[in-house]
Amino acid sequence: MSMTAFLPWQQALASQWLSQQQRFAHAWLIHGLPGIGQLEFALAGAASLLCEDSASGVACGQCQACHWLQAGNHPDFRRIRPDAVAAQEGASPEDTEAAASKKQPSKDIRIEQIRGLLPWFNMATHRGGWRVALLYPAEAMNTIAANALLKILEEPPAHTVFLLVAEAPDRLLPTLVSRCRRLPLPVPGTSESLQWLQAHGVADASAYLAAAGGAPLLAHQLAQGGHAAVPDFIRLFLDLAAHHGARSQLADALIAEDAAVWVDAFQRLWVDLGLSAHGLGIRYYPGQSKEIQALAVELDPLALARTGQWLQTQRGLVSHPLNVKLLGDYAAERLLQAVRPYTVRAQ
Ligand SMILES: [Zn+2]
Repeated sequence: MSMTAFLPWQQALASQWLSQQQRFAHAWLIHGLPGIGQLEFALAGAASLLCEDSASGVACGQCQACHWLQAGNHPDFRRIRPDAVAAQEGASPEDTEAAASKKQPSKDIRIEQIRGLLPWFNMATHRGGWRVALLYPAEAMNTIAANALLKILEEPPAHTVFLLVAEAPDRLLPTLVSRCRRLPLPVPGTSESLQWLQAHGVADASAYLAAAGGAPLLAHQLAQGGHAAVPDFIRLFLDLAAHHGARSQLADALIAEDAAVWVDAFQRLWVDLGLSAHGLGIRYYPGQSKEIQALAVELDPLALARTGQWLQTQRGLVSHPLNVKLLGDYAAERLLQAVRPYTVRAQ
């Protein structure tokens, strides 16, 4: 994937967005479902604003500015993201504060990173063009950092565009959101996503796309990461739940798996069970709809909801589980118990 090109499902929106460069807002909040390419959109948007040879408003991918952007050294472009994200992206460690202090890289966007932009605003831009600050994920700003950015946006520096990328704009400081123009990105259509996945060598594209809730980049990531579209422990769970099997087998499977992975997969299954209980279509595991429907008709909705909440709490905790074995054992018991039919439970 080129850094300067928009994804196929973004192109129409991008052309429309970039056609108004004469009266371009100085801060944009780009948001949408995770895994549909928000960051890719923002990067291609930055490239387009900086491109020196864009006939249509969209980056050419060939000029010096486009090459600089791809190489990560365009003087009029800055990325502001947590050190932990920078490290994941493979940024050289000396760029980050953590390297100096040998601490865990920060998961926050720090106020120093926002303040660090101030001298940059006073420098002349290359050929008098735009200056673009890309900030992601915007939710990673704590209140202090967000207030520092708000101050900047109250008197926006000339020739400068801020692109804020967020998955959950409702978690941002409302005063900050009110200073930005919102640009919601649509979820691409299924056929367009499938076409793209197939072109990128994903076999069984429709199962992966469903497992990713319709988000093609997430589907691609799942497939590339060697994950099964339907994890084995989900198949095992459905089988044990249908036959009231022993939990120990499930516990072993969960203990062997990364907790973040199974919590996520079970949250999806819980959505499907909830949809199915209301007679609605299954979203994430359509290949398992028979088993899911069979469970859903006899469910106790309250037990399902409680365990759904428990899964949500685990989501925040699983990056440092206290005891992997204990958690796996407990989860297997709890998850199977939650889907037992009323009649069986009562005995
Ligand atoms: Zn260009």
